[in-house]
Parts: sequence; C-alpha cells; structure tokens
Amino acid sequence: MTAAAIRPRRILLEEAVGLQLQEDVISDTDSPPWHRSMMDGFAVISKDFVDSLDYKQAVTLEVVAEIAAGEMTASVLEQGQCIRIMTGAPMPPGADAVIPIERAVSGTSHAHAGEQVSLQDPHFRYGQHVSEKGSFFRAGQAVIRHGIELEPVHIGLAAEAGASHVVAIAPPCVSIITTGNELVPSSQVPAEGQIRNTNEPMLSAAVTRCGAEPIPMGIASDRPEPLRAVIAQGLAADILLLSGGVSTGDYDLVPKALGNIGVECVFHKVCLKPGKPIWFGVLHRPAASPTLVFGLPGNPVSALVCFELFVRPALEKISGKSQFLQDRDQQMARLKNSVQGSRDRPVYHPCQLELADDGLLAKVLPWGGSADLLALSLANGLLIVPKECDGFDRGEMVQVIPLISRLRHKSE
Ligand code: AMP
Ligand code: MG
Repeated sequence: MTAAAIRPRRILLEEAVGLQLQEDVISDTDSPPWHRSMMDGFAVISKDFVDSLDYKQAVTLEVVAEIAAGEMTASVLEQGQCIRIMTGAPMPPGADAVIPIERAVSGTSHAHAGEQVSLQDPHFRYGQHVSEKGSFFRAGQAVIRHGIELEPVHIGLAAEAGASHVVAIAPPCVSIITTGNELVPSSQVPAEGQIRNTNEPMLSAAVTRCGAEPIPMGIASDRPEPLRAVIAQGLAADILLLSGGVSTGDYDLVPKALGNIGVECVFHKVCLKPGKPIWFGVLHRPAASPTLVFGLPGNPVSALVCFELFVRPALEKISGKSQFLQDRDQQMARLKNSVQGSRDRPVYHPCQLELADDGLLAKVLPWGGSADLLALSLANGLLIVPKECDGFDRGEMVQVIPLISRLRHKSE
C-alpha cells in the first residue's frame, strides 16, 4: 500500500513528546541510585534508637561529619555517632535511618561536626526516611515499553534512566502550497477581485493538530513554470498538500504540473460533497520513502473536509498511529431536525453533535456550501447523507463523523 509508516529513528528526548515509542527504554541506573536521605536531619544507626528502652527519651549522639546533596562522605558511622545530612544526599556507610531536624531537642538542632545533638523521635521506625537504592527500578530494567505515546512524564523518566535519545517515528513534514492568482497573504487587505489566503494557515493548523510539522510554502500563481518550481521543492517533504487548481477550469494547472514532474496519479475526483475535485498521487523514489501528494480543492470547507477524510488518516498511517484510526470511525446519531440529500453524490453536512444519556444526537446546521467556513466553524461533526438518498427526517438514525476533540456531553 502507498502510505507505509515512516521508518523509526533516534530522536532527541526533548523533541519526542507526543511521539509513539518504537523501542523499550532500558535504564542504565538503579533508582534511587543509592540509599538516599528523604529529610534534612541526622543520619543515624537504627540500633542506637531501637536499643533505647523508651523512644520518648532523647538519644545524644556525636556529630562526626556533614553531607549535602551532591556530596559523598568517606566517614563510616559507628554506634553513638551521627552525620548531619540534607535531603537528597547519599546515606553514609553504616547509617540506616534519618532523624528529621525537627526532632532535635531544642538548642541542639544546629549541631555541626565535632558537636553533640540530642534526638528524640517517639515514632521512630527502623530504616525511616531512607529511600532504598533500586527500590523504584533497577539498572537494565525496561522502564518505558514500546508502543507508548510519550507524555511529559515519560520524557522525565527516560531522562532519569539515562536516555538522551529515544527510538520513535519522527513527525512527518508536510509542505503546503496554495495556488491562485486571486490570493493575497491573510495579513494583507485584499484589493478588488482578490481574497485572503485562508487555506495556508488553516491547513498548517490542521497539520500541527495531527502532531506533524507544517512547512507553509506561500502562494503559487496559476502559471506553469512558477508552479512547477515550487512543487519540485515541496516534494522533499513526506506529504505535499496543494490547495486550489485541481478542477477542470482553464487555470487548474495542478494535475498537469504534478504529472509532468513524475507524480503518479492514484485518483482524481471523488464522488463526494464537498470535495469532489480532490487529486491524490505518489512520487516514488528508488532509495527513499515516497511522497504522498494531495491536491485539495480551493474552497476552504472542501479543503478542510478533504483533510479530515483523506489527509489525516494518511498522516496517522505514516506516523505509525493507524491503530487509532478506529476512534474516528463513523458513528450513529439520532437526528434532531431534517436534512436534504444531493442525489448525485454523498453529502458530508456540517452538524452539531451532542452526547446525551442514550447516545449521540445530531443537529444539522444551516450551510452555504463549500466556501461557508463560518458554518463549519460552528460544527463539531459531519453528517453523511448517502448518494441517491433524498434526505432524513427528525428522529431518524444517521451516520456521523465526529470532528476530533470538539465533542461535549449535553450537560457541559
Ligand atoms: P479552485 O479550486 O482553484 O478553483 O478554487 C475554488 C475557490 O476557492 C475559488 O473561489 C478560489 O478563489 C477559492 N480559493 C482557492 N484557494 C483558496 C485559498 N487558499 N484560500 C481561500 N480561498 C481559496
Ligand atoms: Mg484557483
């Protein structure tokens, strides 16, 4: 099949959040790496306390050294002695418990090396306030299993385990070329006959939402040579998205330009509303993974609906996330109003989906067609009216596609 997953590679840990781990992360260290003090206080020998007949009695010990986090000590503790210790410091040899600083009898808590401290801990437990070496995990242990989608917690854990890189599938790069002589950048005020380039920021955002990296390449005019030149650059990405110029008008030059440059057409035109003119092809390379090329219709609603239906699944597939495709599979909903079909092709109609106690409810929204982006912005789903169907009435069960992450429960 054309959309094969990108090969996994080593990725810098700091750049790996959100990616799917392809190889287990094996720790090079125990955690904690040594017996570690969990308190500021005094490292002691439990026996000094266990032996005292009554814990309520203060035990007086000689402070023989001090140790902060990041330090080691060569002193070996003997009975009757203690070491002043800070949170996070390695326990000195011989010591096996920590008495918190608050348990020093008043006036002695400042005791430093060479002085005496009196410690009184009525709830003393053997080995208290020490986190044992290797009690969380061991060197050689797989601390993160492949298949996990890396969250910030995994990044921290991998860092602790000594992994500067992880093996994952890098986010695909997606070039975006918008075509049309009438377009001006969205930051400009259009002159007579011009319109703002809506699709470039919109498609870039859609690509980002998929966890991929958009490469916006600006506006290409409807002239063969400039179009060819920018397409040649855009083909370096994993996926190339073009918008506009894929229908059959005099200035719809995209299919021809792609064909001339060696992109093999897989399909052109789909029985679908909105989005009929969509073009899809593949540039094969002998030594590298192919570039998938989508010529999306210029009308913004068509472009975004085609992105949802065709580009997003392809992106998920090449990112190695195809098992999540199921999540967006069509679902059934009860219709709250009525909708008309268009007999010649299936219609994907913007609708408002709501989660009720007995399942999904769908309300069809007023919609002015493939350029009416406002209607789509109010929708959180698409309702499918199949080909040759006149429409549906209120109360009928209909097929819908939730648009990811915009579904709310009725009570919200
Ligand atoms: P086309 O697919 O090039 O025939 O364009 C169809 C319609 O979409 C025309 O009305 C174009 O002006 C409009 N259109 C094309 N590209 C864009 C774009 N990037 N942003 C907004 N509208 C566009
Ligand atoms: Mg055009």
